[in-house]
Amino acid sequence: MVTVRGLYIHIPFCESKCPYCSFYSYVEKDETVIEKYFNTLIKEIKTYNNLSFNTIYIGGGTPSSVNPKILDTFFNSLFKLIKYSGEEFTIEVNPGSFNQEFIDVIDRYNINRISMGVQSFDNNVLKLLGRDHQANDIYKSLELMDLDKYRLNLDMIYDIPTVEDNIIFDTLESIVKINPSHISAYSYQHEDTGYLANNINLDKTLFNDVENKLRENGYEKYEVSNFSKKRMESKHNMIYWNMNEYIGIGSSASSMYHTDNKIRIRYTNTADIEKYINGVENLEKVFSDYEELDINKQISESLIFGLRLKDGIDLGDVEVKYGTTIPESFMKNIDILISKGLLTCQKKKLIATERGTEVLDTLSLYLL
Ligand code: SF4
Repeated sequence: MVTVRGLYIHIPFCESKCPYCSFYSYVEKDETVIEKYFNTLIKEIKTYNNLSFNTIYIGGGTPSSVNPKILDTFFNSLFKLIKYSGEEFTIEVNPGSFNQEFIDVIDRYNINRISMGVQSFDNNVLKLLGRDHQANDIYKSLELMDLDKYRLNLDMIYDIPTVEDNIIFDTLESIVKINPSHISAYSYQHEDTGYLANNINLDKTLFNDVENKLRENGYEKYEVSNFSKKRMESKHNMIYWNMNEYIGIGSSASSMYHTDNKIRIRYTNTADIEKYINGVENLEKVFSDYEELDINKQISESLIFGLRLKDGIDLGDVEVKYGTTIPESFMKNIDILISKGLLTCQKKKLIATERGTEVLDTLSLYLL
């Protein structure tokens, strides 16, 4: 049995397409296509042998919009093929997109974390964002859940053009009252979020005010857009930020892991669902890109991802992990970034300063 830390499963189906969304998702009404897709996921996982995972993350798209019977059949087959340590099993849901039958299925398979795409509690903002739920749906969906059973993440969006700050703070207030263990707060206008590209017009005051408001309510920012109560960080997402191994199945899903000869490989499945289904069916490779990461690339990405974290990255740990000192070329640029006030380094702990965090994407170019 080979342990890879995380398994990501991509479900590309949504009930409607939000105009701002850059994730690979689309509206599919034909249940035979959805069933075929889930059968293909099982075929894809069979191409790996004897895998064991610490975390599982079902993302999308809107996994909760899928007929619970299809999910039930899928999970039943999946757990005959893989082992899971029970650490963290997340499913993404949208308000109003699921019923009691869905909850029964996720409980049957011990899903212990729910990530809900709330985005706003203001119906006008939800309409502006093109969401197909209203504030009421959020409360109704939460009522369906026994919240003691799950770690709950609520996603919200702020920094939306034309939306007054007080409306954003009303949403924050409503979220905090629900008391989830984790909150992902995405800036609509920041390219890091995956929501809107090409516009780094971050409202710094709002950004700080959101962070302060959450801190006052017991949420610590541990990553650029992620806040949690103590020890409630997303274990699955930490795998990505710590550059640990994961396998992604489904259209557009990425994988990164060591092969037997210790080379680290990364690839991303085709986003085209038809190509994905036909490719897996015919035992063809379905990834649209493939790369082998040499040590320098792994160190570079460890630094870039690590700097997204509030606690930064320990250069000593990187050296131990990759069995080499940090190359001189990186250290030279790190010194320049420190001298410009974008990074700090104490006892080998490299952390982005407030200014550095604001320009993280540009700063990353110096670490390639
Ligand atoms: S934002 Fe979420 S619900 Fe909206 S289209 Fe994208 S994946 Fe679907």
